[in-house]
Amino acid sequence: MPDLKLSALNRPDTLKKLGEEKFDLLIIGGGITGAGIALDAVTRGLKVALIEKKDFAWGTSSRSTKLIHGGLRYLKQLEINLVREVGRERAIIHRNAPHIVHPENMLLPIIKQGSLGKRSTSLGLYVYDMLAGVQRKERRVMLTRHETLKREPLLREDIVLGGGLYKEYRTDDARLTIEVLKTARKFGAEIVNYTEAMDFIYDQGKAVGVTVRDHWDDRTLDIRAEKIVNAAGPWVDGLRKLDNSMNGKRLHLTKGVHIVLPYEKFPLKQAVYFDVEDGRMIFAIPRNKITYVGTTDTNYKHNIDAPGVTADDVEYLLKAVNHMFPKIDLKPDDVSSSWVGLRPLIHEEGKGPSELSRKDEIFYSRSGVITIAGGKLTGFRKMAERTVDVVVEQLEKEKKGKFKPCKTDRIVLSGGKLKGNKEINELIQSTMERTGLNEVEARILVEKYGSNTTKVLSRFDKLEGKYTNNEQRILAAEVYYTIEEEMVVHPSDMLVRRSGKLYFEREEVEGDTPIVMQILSDTLGYTESQQQELAKELDLDYTKVLAFTK
Ligand code: FAD
Repeated sequence: MPDLKLSALNRPDTLKKLGEEKFDLLIIGGGITGAGIALDAVTRGLKVALIEKKDFAWGTSSRSTKLIHGGLRYLKQLEINLVREVGRERAIIHRNAPHIVHPENMLLPIIKQGSLGKRSTSLGLYVYDMLAGVQRKERRVMLTRHETLKREPLLREDIVLGGGLYKEYRTDDARLTIEVLKTARKFGAEIVNYTEAMDFIYDQGKAVGVTVRDHWDDRTLDIRAEKIVNAAGPWVDGLRKLDNSMNGKRLHLTKGVHIVLPYEKFPLKQAVYFDVEDGRMIFAIPRNKITYVGTTDTNYKHNIDAPGVTADDVEYLLKAVNHMFPKIDLKPDDVSSSWVGLRPLIHEEGKGPSELSRKDEIFYSRSGVITIAGGKLTGFRKMAERTVDVVVEQLEKEKKGKFKPCKTDRIVLSGGKLKGNKEINELIQSTMERTGLNEVEARILVEKYGSNTTKVLSRFDKLEGKYTNNEQRILAAEVYYTIEEEMVVHPSDMLVRRSGKLYFEREEVEGDTPIVMQILSDTLGYTESQQQELAKELDLDYTKVLAFTK
């Protein structure tokens, strides 16, 4: 029986297979787009490989607003089909991954001289709910001024006229990506991180494979496949240039910044989507020990690998918050963490960042390489379906096999075997009893691993007596689990993307580092120089989230 875990310990075997076997489909990019395609393709019967140059979700898919949403503002831009599709996807993703996709009431305050009036908000939210097929009991509710201020007392009293309350879903983008990848692995996809596509291999003008660099073991190998999909997010045009296929449309990258504030500094009772003076709208979302605010949306033309947060970005967001929530008066020093991502949007002549469509599109190359660009985290399943439809059609036409239709709407993701809130709450309760964690800590754990929390807890039991307190022991159990089942190789894989600690528990993360380093080093056998390099990489991650350039 093959080991179908996405384990760091299986990397050598996976790379051996990647070098020796031929695949129906090779996917470049381990963000949500590539992950979704891998799951769709492998469950239709294709032999699938996926490579990621850094860690899974290292690109945009760990740096979004972390909402599974229909995109209310796209309604304003009359993107009806987009709103309908992503709106409907919310319920499907929630059903298949209830541990990482949670319904959240979003408050839309109606303010004096704001972009929306009472009637237009009521109508807009009604249409939004209808397009998304929202159940009657979950549809929008319009609030009076008094009700709005009661829901969120920090709002600016002198300008609030009323509000609309509607349903969105909050998620953890990087964890959603890893759960999709783990599920694809369970169905047999070969998946590896820290492996970069360096060049295409051609036979009579057709791309038949990719030369890759395994950055972990520092070696090069060739992977052969019938079809190649470029799902490299902001990097897709770089690969299209390599393939000499930069004709027609191109990407337009825009930068989006989020800042994190300790909950005590910004004790928001309720997620709010509010107007900014320049006509844009931003989110303020409370999440356990913090509240985060975002996003900016500005053109980006610099190094794609290293976008940074500027002091202006921080000032813009703080000014917006201080204007709408005047009781709190936040300063740059209050910011405890931040993240910055690049939207891989499709360029449209004459349009500014916030006007560009969020639609996805497939580009074809003469060499056969298929590129998927644009889109949203929320729409990943449908984007994958459209892409794999193309791949399957081509393979079947070339008589390379017969494949099944898409069925990802019915596939429960790894960790998702929990029926509704009742089972989630029972698991939180049993986790508290077994570990001594408080309710918030236990909820954070269960919302990360879902039904796989029991695996983390089994490891916790085995570590009895090895750590000075239960917080350290649970952290150690998580590290073992994420090495063995989520291909954690670098400490930052664990501390930034699998756990989100760098963003959501910034104050604690440095104290956690020695345990993470030690277990990784013992399990994966880091050399002295690897240890030094990885410690440097972590330091950089730690400083980056609070280093705001001029
Ligand atoms: P990425 O996640 O960037 O993945 C591409 C991957 O390809 C990267 O990991 C990269 O390392 C890898 N790669 C690149 N080159 C190579 C190579 N040569 N070899 C191997 N691998 C390679 N959407 C929503 O639905 N909800 C939201 O709330 C939301 N908020 C957002 C807020 C911001 C600020 C931004 C920027 C985006 C937001 N989005 C949101 C959009 C969403 O995050 C993106 O559409 C989505 O994450 C893009 O995923 P991707 O897989 O296409 O790209």
